[in-house]
Amino acid sequence: MIAVPSPLRLRLLTDALVANWRWLAAQSGGAACGAAIKADGYGLGARAVMQSLAAAGCRDFFVATWAEAAALMPLPPGVGLAVLHGVGADDMAAARTLPARPVLCSVEQVRRWREMGEGQPCDVMVDTGMNRLGLRAEEAANGALDGLAIDTLLSHLASADEDSAQNARQLAAFQAIRAQIPARRYSLANSAGVCLGHDYAFDLTRPGLALYGGTPRSEAAGHISQVAFPEARVLQVRTVERGDTVGYGGTWRAASRTRIVVANIGYADGYLRCHSGGVGFGSWQGRDLPVVGRVSMDLTAFDAGDLPIGEGDWVTLGYDLPEVAARSGLSQYELLTGLGARFERYWLT
Ligand SMILES: *Cc1c(COP(=O)(O)O)cnc(C)c1O
Repeated sequence: MIAVPSPLRLRLLTDALVANWRWLAAQSGGAACGAAIKADGYGLGARAVMQSLAAAGCRDFFVATWAEAAALMPLPPGVGLAVLHGVGADDMAAARTLPARPVLCSVEQVRRWREMGEGQPCDVMVDTGMNRLGLRAEEAANGALDGLAIDTLLSHLASADEDSAQNARQLAAFQAIRAQIPARRYSLANSAGVCLGHDYAFDLTRPGLALYGGTPRSEAAGHISQVAFPEARVLQVRTVERGDTVGYGGTWRAASRTRIVVANIGYADGYLRCHSGGVGFGSWQGRDLPVVGRVSMDLTAFDAGDLPIGEGDWVTLGYDLPEVAARSGLSQYELLTGLGARFERYWLT
């Protein structure tokens, strides 16, 4: 096969990923610190993330589906994998054969798992107020789980990124469940939950976002580093005259003669239209270039100012997650998971 160079790449920093995990592990106190790597490691590449974090000492990984679990085989030695969506009827063949635990989420899933009858360890999700996935506390306490070999009993925080009274309520509900249901380990905190303090850490934490450079709460600011840097190749440099417009709808008009660079990235790559019109920006040799006009499917135009950028150069997109989330209105999660399949992902150590 011909090696085709990509005009769109995602520079990924292994050291930043590992440093973020180490900070989260330290904040987890005595609890083990795992890693949520669903949605292909939040768009960065689940396999590479798992390998780097396993080498750093992470032993617990979480994906959403069995297809995601299957894609990660074989697992690094000593590593455990849990599948957050549990087992549907179609998942039983995978659940029987793959070395991963389902996180059973409903009475129906518990029944299905029991019917398999092999007494293999499983995880269980109990709802403490989010009302998304999980057995209700009453269901869990009323014998539905008797006799299961529960490795980890989980619940998930709905508002940990805010100073909400819901956090303490969920903590109290989880402590009550822990007193009633035996399991090897208990786990409540995502990235934001880790920032809420040791009370929330129990035996195992499950950060995702903050591993990848997201700042879930102010406590993490200054401790979490950017991991992912989108880079797009410049396809064309053009000069427009005063009064000319750029892009679909002619939404940007030149106030004076302006050099415009057109780069190989667009909304089909997850660089959505909300970055249009100066909301988004790139940089070249450390100097900022505002987006001009509308982002289109495969292309975005930038004001090059007086910079001597040429065709074939690379523009690095501004992608500091908290800053770009505030500017664009997208969540830090959407900014990461939207990064499309056309990026060539490359990790630097
Ligand atoms: C996605 C997810 C996490 C990780 O959450 P972040 O907010 O990205 O840290 C943890 N636990 C569960 C159950 C999840 O679905």
